[in-house]
Order: sequence, then C-alpha cells, then structure tokens
Amino acid sequence: MQGDAYLKCIDPQCGLEYPIENTNVQCEKGHLLDVKYKNKPSPKLKEVFYKRRDSENSIFNESGVWRFRDLLNFCQIDTENLEECSKYLVSLDGAEGRQSKPYRMSKAANFIDISNDNLWLQPEGYNPSGSFKDNGMATAVTHAKMIGAKKIVCASTGNTSASAGMFAANEGINCDVYIPAGQIAPGKLSQAYQFGAQIIEVDGNFDEALKQSLDDAQNHDGYTVNSINPFRIEGQKTIPFRALEYLNWEAPDWIVYPGGALGNTSSCGKALMELYEWGWIKKIPRIAVINSEGASTLSDLYNGKFENEELRWNKGNPNTGLISRYYDHLDKEGLRPKTKATAIQIGRPANILKGLRALEFTNGVATTVTDSEMLDGMSVVGLNGFDCEMASGASVAGIKKLINDGIIKKDEVVVGILTGRQKDAMIPVDYHKNPENKFAIPPKN
Ligand SMILES: *Cc1c(COP(=O)(O)O)cnc(C)c1O
Ligand SMILES: [Zn+2]
Repeated sequence: MQGDAYLKCIDPQCGLEYPIENTNVQCEKGHLLDVKYKNKPSPKLKEVFYKRRDSENSIFNESGVWRFRDLLNFCQIDTENLEECSKYLVSLDGAEGRQSKPYRMSKAANFIDISNDNLWLQPEGYNPSGSFKDNGMATAVTHAKMIGAKKIVCASTGNTSASAGMFAANEGINCDVYIPAGQIAPGKLSQAYQFGAQIIEVDGNFDEALKQSLDDAQNHDGYTVNSINPFRIEGQKTIPFRALEYLNWEAPDWIVYPGGALGNTSSCGKALMELYEWGWIKKIPRIAVINSEGASTLSDLYNGKFENEELRWNKGNPNTGLISRYYDHLDKEGLRPKTKATAIQIGRPANILKGLRALEFTNGVATTVTDSEMLDGMSVVGLNGFDCEMASGASVAGIKKLINDGIIKKDEVVVGILTGRQKDAMIPVDYHKNPENKFAIPPKN
C-alpha cells in the first residue's frame, strides 16, 4: 500500500497533485482538493468490515469511522496491524460513528406520507460530541497528527467547534475556534469552552468567521479542520458507508442531507463515485440537499433562481462567475443568511463546487424548507424517541416536500441523515408551548 495516497485538485483543467503530507486546503490556484488513492480496494473488504462489528476489543473496529479504515487509508498503514493503527489513527476511544446506523421511524414516515418500509433515518447526533462532525474530525485530526500540527483551527456554527474541541482535548493539542458572536446555540458553545478551546468571537456571520480562521491558520501555524479540509471529507464518507452496509450494499434511491457548507454532500458524492467506480454498488443513489429558505445559496443557483441560469458542475467547467455575481448580489442587497437552524445558516458554502459535482454524479436535487417545516420535522423525530436538532429536521421536511412535489416517488427507498442532536434546549420548549404547532403538546397547569 505504500505511496498509494495523494492529493489532487478537483478542477480537471488544473489537476495539480500534491503529496499526502500537504496541509494547504486548496491548490495554488485556489481550487479545492481531493484525497485520492491509486489502488482499487477489494470487494472482499465488505466481509472484513462486517466482521469488525465484533470488535475483539479493538477501538479501531468499534469505531464506525475506522472500521472502514481500508477505504480511508491516507496514512498508508497496514490496516490489520493494530499497533500501527494506534500510532496513527485518532479516535475518541472508538466512539465516533459507533452508534450511527439507519433506523425506522414510523411517525416520521406517516408525517412524510411514505411507507414505513421505504424510509430510513440515520441519527448522527449520537456521536460523542453530538453531531456527524466527529466522523470527519477523526480523519482530519489524524492528518493533523500525521504532519505534527500543534494547534487545530476552525470556524463554526457550533457543532464543528464542539467536535474539534473534544478531539483536541483528547489528543492534548490546542484548538482555536472562530464563532459568529451571538449566533451559535449555547449548548454548542458551552461544549467548546468545556473542552478547553480558545474561543474567538467574530463580529459577523459564519462566512466571515471562516475567512478569519483560514487567515489565522495560514499565518500562525494552525491546522484547519473545517470541511474545506479534504481529510474531513474522507471521514464523513463513512456516513453513507454505514447506511449502505446496513442495507447490505443495496443502494437506496435517495440520500437526503441538510445543506450548510456542503461538506456532507461532497463527501457522500465522493463516497458514491468511489464505490461505483470500484463496482461495490450497481446503482447510484440520488442526493437531495435541503437548504433553509433563509440560507438557500445552493438551491437558488442550482434551480436557476439567479440570472435564470441553472448552475451545474458541467463536467468540471462550472460557471464560477455566476457564483461570484450571486455573492456580490447578496453583499450589495445586504442579504444575510437567516434561519433559526443556525447549523445551516451559511451564505457561502465553502464546498459548493464539490457539492455541484456530487449532484451531477448522482443526478441530485436541491430544494428549500421553511423554519416552521424544519421544526415539525425535528419534532416528529422526537415523537419516535429519537433526538435531533432543528437543522436535521430539514432532512425530514425536505423528504416530505420532495414526495409532495412528485420528485421522490412513493415506492422509492430514502435514507435521511439526521445530522445532530438537540443542543438548543429552548427550541423544543417554545415549540411545544405553542398549541398551533403541528406536533405541540402544550404543558398543563
Ligand atoms: C454542520 C452541520 C450541518 C451542515 O453540514 P454541511 O456538511 O456543512 O453541509 C447540518 N446539520 C448539523 C447539525 C450540523 O452540525
Ligand atoms: Zn487547481
């Protein structure tokens, strides 16, 4: 396996390549990077992954991320050598991704109006820091450790900082967190404090916080762990891996995500591209990205709501001018992303081009839902005895909308990703106090 992994620019006209130790998150022309592997993994690994579910006391088998380590082997280690694994792979004692798999939720199916047999919802909030971010943080911090970084840096709408803080504390390295002041859920901010991260409050929104954090990382020897980092994307591939494994590698018709910075969309697309190329799946599930109506950059551009042009990856020739003009338009009109679902309150999704590539490969769709629809989606998940946050409610609300619009057919199999656990205590309290809300159970006195 030696020397099999490298980094490559996603722009096919540019295509610059870098050794795996490279820490720049972009090529020198400013394009995003992919982690690539030269070798094609054997389909026999499916059995190996399955067997590792009986962990035999190895945290790298317990981990829902590292169980698939042969498909994320950018450290280029002997994946069966557990000593080598412990030397290189960063893990929260095997807890990342361990509890996440698709579940049936009959009340959600009923609300969506789909047969209970056709709907799977996968709670990624059951990760140790409470969101899917732990899947990608395990791999990003592994790379940080591989290159000897002393400090990891991120901007965050909340969950990235909770995850980065937890991993940094566990590894004994420093962590700087840039947050949009006053715009993150107290339950997430408190985690970052508790794990000993250095909080830097930015007077602006997430997009501005990201810009500052990238500058800081570059100028002060920090290692960026936002999803613009291609190693984050590698770990998050295990979200669809776990879903597919659970479905015996029979691809569903749809995989549905809330859309923020589009790291998840990008990593699901990359996972599906790889699995299809290797012949592990015969059918390509379609990805649906659900934006909030108040932060709808991808949906607007993809659906031709700006300058009447439907933005596409276009085989690596996207109209990036259209994206710049859209951002200029947001700035000029003073339009700021606005939704109570702060995890997806993002106007400039850093991974938009990888997101478009994922949508093109999977014949995907993008749409929007309102805050009130997300709250209903979140609440009906709660009534099934599962816990998710408002942004995750976008997956449920989005599936409902796409079924209603006839885009998802009722006989199709759908996997919705519930990205995070509830950390904003007052959201459900306020929801249930108002008897006008669909699932409200108001308190009695
Ligand atoms: C980060 C986050 C998102 C957005 O995911 P992207 O990969 O940035 O699109 C959605 N939901 C929750 C709960 C999150 O923490
Ligand atoms: Zn490039």
